[in-house]
Amino acid sequence: MGGRMKAMILDAQRRPLRQADLPRPKPGLGEILLEVHACGVCRTDLHVRDGDLQQAKLPLILGHEIVGVVVEKGANAEGFALGQRVGVPWLGRTCGHCAYCASGRENLCDAAQFTGYTLDGGYAEYALADARYCFALPDAYTDAEAAPLLCAGLIGYRALAAAGDAKRIGIYGFGAAAHIIAQVARWQGRELFAFTKPGDADGQAFARELGAVWAGDSSAAPPQEMDAAILFAPVGALVPQALRHTAKGGTVVCAGIHMSAIPEFPYSILWGERSVRSIANLTRHDGEAFLELAPKAGVRTEVQTFPLASANEALEQLASGRVRGAAVLVMGEPGNDPRQDRQ
Ligand SMILES: [Zn+2]
Ligand SMILES: [Zn+2]
Repeated sequence: MGGRMKAMILDAQRRPLRQADLPRPKPGLGEILLEVHACGVCRTDLHVRDGDLQQAKLPLILGHEIVGVVVEKGANAEGFALGQRVGVPWLGRTCGHCAYCASGRENLCDAAQFTGYTLDGGYAEYALADARYCFALPDAYTDAEAAPLLCAGLIGYRALAAAGDAKRIGIYGFGAAAHIIAQVARWQGRELFAFTKPGDADGQAFARELGAVWAGDSSAAPPQEMDAAILFAPVGALVPQALRHTAKGGTVVCAGIHMSAIPEFPYSILWGERSVRSIANLTRHDGEAFLELAPKAGVRTEVQTFPLASANEALEQLASGRVRGAAVLVMGEPGNDPRQDRQ
């Protein structure tokens, strides 16, 4: 199958994306070619564009929350049928034999490749993926609704798991990941405190709608001490702030791939067996577990859709905190909102 495709290309970091007309890629060994229907816009895409992350393949097609349909299979590409809807996450490929891969921690693989970072991603009409790292998607979601599950949802879920059995959880930064994980935490019977940028009344109201028992400014104290905190906001100064409100034995989980420097803090706020840890990437097991759980937990995603050609605008709206829920690119004609298919 030959043909061309439209894609939004990052030629160099710290530059806007450029609309390009490219040859449609051919699937190699173990790869599938997807006709992309939707692709989520993640904060990590901003970090790649802005040069906070240094390993980007250039030129690059961003996007690691890809929902598409299999249109062509390379040799030995197994697990999915032509015409099947699949999801492609951030973890694009691992080596399979390093110490991390061999011990069930492929998220830490020394030679991992990442969709929309070291591999081309989904800001395009077509995308390639290694079939072994793709997921079947639950039917309960439209294409646009399913997209944010693939990073915001499942990396958020990994971060929530790292909080252990904490009853009271604080979430700093109420964006795409938080709006999904809030629903899971509530379904699990936990109490959620949501922290937003100071003065973000809309964000705080949104968090309460999704089950937060308290929502306030990131600089505020929660009504009670928290058993754990998850930081989705890439702001290092929040680490000591969260620690100060976390109970003995509690964990502060840094869920983003990039964070500004963490300021010095007194040992006394870490004392008492508190932990600070990060979450890196995902394993395929995380994805399978979360995608099975999301419909059972009644998780709904709220998406704001943009046509592919408006990818720069979607990134700007995300950067300025104007997106409620998750931003998602939908392929096809402008104004073709896939949510209308649900009626
Ligand atoms: Zn490995
Ligand atoms: Zn992401």
